Formats: sequence, C-alpha cells, structure tokens
Amino acid sequence: MNVTTNAFQMAQQQFDRVADQLNLDQQVRDYLRWPMREFSFRIPVQMDNGIIKIYTGFRVQHNDAIGPCKGGIRFHLSETIDTVRALATWMTWKCAVVNIPLGGGKGGVVVDSATLTNTEKENLCRGYIQKIWREIGSRRDVPAPDVGTTPQMMGWMMDEYSKLSGEYVPGVITGKPVGNGGSLGQTEATGFGVVFAIREAMKKMKIDPGKCSASIQGFGNIAQYAAIGFTTMLKGKVMAVSYWDRDDRTSYTISHMKGIDPVFLQTITNQYGAIDKEKSKSAGYEIEEGTGWIRKDVDVLIPAAIEGQINAETVGMISNKVRIIAEGANGPTTIEADEQLKKRGVFVIPDFLCNAGGVIVSYFESVQNDMNYYCPRDEVLQRLDEKMTVAFQSVYEMFEKEKVFMRDAAYMVAINRVVKAMQLRGWI
Ligand code: GLU
Repeated sequence: MNVTTNAFQMAQQQFDRVADQLNLDQQVRDYLRWPMREFSFRIPVQMDNGIIKIYTGFRVQHNDAIGPCKGGIRFHLSETIDTVRALATWMTWKCAVVNIPLGGGKGGVVVDSATLTNTEKENLCRGYIQKIWREIGSRRDVPAPDVGTTPQMMGWMMDEYSKLSGEYVPGVITGKPVGNGGSLGQTEATGFGVVFAIREAMKKMKIDPGKCSASIQGFGNIAQYAAIGFTTMLKGKVMAVSYWDRDDRTSYTISHMKGIDPVFLQTITNQYGAIDKEKSKSAGYEIEEGTGWIRKDVDVLIPAAIEGQINAETVGMISNKVRIIAEGANGPTTIEADEQLKKRGVFVIPDFLCNAGGVIVSYFESVQNDMNYYCPRDEVLQRLDEKMTVAFQSVYEMFEKEKVFMRDAAYMVAINRVVKAMQLRGWI
C-alpha cells in the first residue's frame, strides 16, 4: 500500500463525504465514523523448534445494528489496528448494500503465514480463538477467511471455539471446509460475484462482454475465479494477471497475447497465489514488472490484491481504453485516484458492492449451519447471482437518481439501511 494512505482515514473520508450529502445528524456520524468495539491482544504460539513466539492479534466490531458482526481475519505482515478498523467499517457497508442481515467486523494478525509450518499455523489459529472466543459467536460476531487465511484455518478455529464452549458451534465462523460445516460455492463466491457485477454494469453500458478484455491484479482466490468467470461466463479475454513473488520480494505481471488460460495458470500457482515463472514462460507467457497489469489496453481492470493499489502514482498509468474498474479487493482505490477516475468518466464498481460475493455465501453458509441442511452448489451460486444482481440494481438506481459517483451511490444505499436499523432499534 502507498505509505501515505491510511486505510482507516480513507474509510472515514469516504463516509464523511456521503454523510454530508445525506445530511446525517452529528450523533449518527459520531457513531458510524468509529467502530463500536475493538480488541487488541497478544497470542503466544509454540513454534516447531520449541520456542514460544508472541503475535499481535486484532478484532474490530464496527456496527451490529442490522445483525451480528461479520468479516474475515487477515494474516498479513502490515496489519495494524487502522487497517482492521477500515476493513471492519467496509464490512458494515458491504453487508448492508447487499441486504443481508449482518453487521461489520474484521480481524487480523501481524504475520506472514507463508513463514509458518502447518502445526504453527494451527497453533496460531487456536491461540487467536483462545484470546477472543468470549467476544465472538454466531449471534455476536462471525469471522471468516481473508488475505492469508484459508478454509482449513477456519476449521481449526471453529473446533477450538466448540471445545471452549462445550458444544459443536459451526455457525461461529464461515468459510469452513466443505464436509466440516462449509458451503459449496464458497471458493468461487467472491470472484464470480465480481463477474456478476461486471455483467450487470455492461448491460447498463450496452457493452458486449464477449468483445471485452480485462487485466487483473493478483492471482489469489478472488482473482482466479474472477478470471475463470470472465472467460467462461462472459466469454471475454483476460490479458494479464499479476502476483507477489515472496523470494524476489517484488511483484510480476504475467500476460499472453491470446489471453491467459486461468485454469492452466491455477495448476502452476501455489497456495499464496504465486505463479511458477519457468513453467509459465515455457507455456508462452510473457513476464513483466509488477505494474504491467494496470498499463494494459483493456476494457476492464480488476484490482484483486490489497488496498491502496490505484493511487496518485499509478492512476495515470491507466489506459484510455479502460471503461470499467471492478474492485475485487477491499479499498484498492485511494481518494486521490477516485477524483481522477471521476474526471475521466471511468465506471467504478466499488469494492464493498463488487466483492460482496464472499460474505453473501458466508451468510448462506451460516443459514445452512443453523438448519443443519446443506444446499447443492448450483443453488448457492444461483442465489448469489440474484443477490448481487439486486444489489447492483439498487446502487445503480441511486447513481442515476442522485447523479453521484457509483461509490457514493453504494454508500448512500448502505448508510440509509444501517441508519434505519439504528432508528428502529431506538439507538438514535
Ligand atoms: N473476507 C471477506 C470479505 O472481505 C469475506 C467476509 C466474510 O465472509 O465474512 O468480504
């Protein structure tokens, strides 16, 4: 992330802008600008060499007016209380904009999970739950995976919580492995959700997706399924993807003249989203430096890595051909870059709408856990499509009615719903 960008300040500035436009009362703003509750704790972890290492963990609960807090846990070296606050705040808007009965929360641990062995990961996951279990729960706050965490880790966390509370509680956490309380369709959910949002945007803009090209930042879970969905469902071409190389400590862009084959690239990608350079070269792919993805002459850009990637320095690299930016990541575009995109008339599908597929299927997962009945994959994906389509429509209607930027329109829809719930509960 651009060092000058503080994600939480960015989240607050985005909120303030719209709070002004909506003429929100001061006490409502004071409540929504900050998380309602936050925790920071130390986690001792037994390492394989017998030594105990201490990690820092966070859980932030931004708002639960509409329902229990909901949001992932990131394992990331640059995690801070402010990144977690920002992400928790965005979760409140995300759940509200797609109209699911959940609030916003987020967790984090300052760690690079790639440096841990499997046992160390398990110890850290269990340690995280030991510190926070009294503050979470299926009717209180429900974590899930995010950057650096996996379904297996959610399985360990659910198990630890169940042990501590003395009963099987699958609904305490979502994104669990299938066969262990997880939902079919969860793996593809966020990436496919991005594609459903792009499809709806293209309908409004009268663009034929089959003639379109895209370039994607990242090749983690969201990017992989966005690429697969873009090529198989929309029949468009993905020209490039990028990835972070831990060994070289830099990022690379991988492209192919005829468009990449995401399913092939998946077979040569490790669990952290890094693509095998040699194998991709021998398959005819070109490897360029990290910002290559943003410079491509394509119709759609999909930032699907981390926050702050489209910023004052990189926004100028975007080609004039780009018509849509579909934000797969949380907070990928800074306030300064937003201003440039507005001037250029680029249609932005804002993060908390565009990448809501993951939390929508998380919601379906918790409903299945409550029912103790599991749905087929097609049904889950069909319901995901319906939710994303309706959410896109409601934001687009606001965009047309208020003649504002799509991000502001999404904020308007979300804030109105949260404020209404707070009023109905008699909080304000
Ligand atoms: N971490 C994902 C997000 O940022 C999913 C959250 C969830 O499923 O609770 O939307």
